[in-house]
Amino acid sequence: MVDFERLVSGGIQKLRPYLPGKPIEVLVREMGAREIRLEPANIIKLASNENPLGPSGQVIGAIQQALPKLGLYPDGSGFLLKSDLARHLSILPEQITLGNGSNELLDILARTFLEPGDLALYAQFAFDIYSLVVQAAGAQGIVVKAKDWGHDLEAFALALETLSKPPKMIFLANPNNPTGTWFDLDALTALLEATPLETIVVLDEAYSEYITLPTYPDGLSLLGRYPNLVVTRTFSKAYGLAGLRVGYAVSHPQIAGLLNRVRPPFNVNSLALTAARAALEDEAHLKKSVQLNAHGLRQLEMGLSQLELGFIPSVANFITVDVGREAVPVYEQLLHEGIIVRPLAAYDMPNHLRISVGLEKDNARLLEALQRVLLNT
Ligand SMILES: *Cc1c(COP(=O)(O)O)cnc(C)c1O
Repeated sequence: MVDFERLVSGGIQKLRPYLPGKPIEVLVREMGAREIRLEPANIIKLASNENPLGPSGQVIGAIQQALPKLGLYPDGSGFLLKSDLARHLSILPEQITLGNGSNELLDILARTFLEPGDLALYAQFAFDIYSLVVQAAGAQGIVVKAKDWGHDLEAFALALETLSKPPKMIFLANPNNPTGTWFDLDALTALLEATPLETIVVLDEAYSEYITLPTYPDGLSLLGRYPNLVVTRTFSKAYGLAGLRVGYAVSHPQIAGLLNRVRPPFNVNSLALTAARAALEDEAHLKKSVQLNAHGLRQLEMGLSQLELGFIPSVANFITVDVGREAVPVYEQLLHEGIIVRPLAAYDMPNHLRISVGLEKDNARLLEALQRVLLNT
């Protein structure tokens, strides 16, 4: 028997798969096997930061109209969506790269710029995908210590001074998942000033639509001054299209040209292209989603405080809670109650659970169940 492990590069050998939130149908199957009956309709998933309202009605209508054309390949250039995004964001279509979720763009960015021997920087507790794409590309990831669970951009600047050579890439999440922490415009600008232009800075803004704080930076406004900056965004979170997989990167046109060479030709399917355009149009749905989230976040903060649990202040659509004990048993007890959240042991946060903001009644049910479970674990 051939040992196929030996055939792959060292980076791939050491790769461990990303652990996603448990899908509802998987929970039903697992509990069913143990003869614990859970009705799918009674299960709430607060584990993957999805929009509890789902997609807008206009999106569903647009998808229905597009269904008869499923026999045709999508427009591989994404011309119409890029035109709409350009208008919407006051950028040029040439600056945009479309991805099968922004996750794919992070992978394309790493494969475009990183070679074995290159260095890439990301923060402790940063979104797990950064370390995975860096490793898959055979490059070396360097972790910059967090401060109060968040990115410490001054520590990034210090790392730039002390490394043996400039990193090829820096990955920043604003806000970060799984901590919900964010950094302001001054901190970001200071780091960009300290970064050589030969270092690509990826600014992951997967949750930017939720944030209304005046000092929260709009990465797009910095692209003119910093041609090495790449901003990634997604339709998965505030726009409620996680199941369709569509995201985009905005960058200098030359970088976009490179990414578009590496990008698979039909990476965004025709329903996703159509849906994303309709989602951009429906500003009322976006506004409603953002408001619902703000209320839900306050509801969870208040409820968690009443349970005397510590949490990391979040500006995103989830909140990360210190349950004051090993979190996996709490997570498992919540599963028995039909509530899926996310344990963070993989992030070296063994006592934390990440809870996505749901509908008001779902947040209430989570808080009640959590109280019960904490009494019993
Ligand atoms: C959810 C998320 C993404 C990627 O989402 P896609 O569905 O692939 O667009 C990227 N970055 C962060 C920080 C996220 O939390």
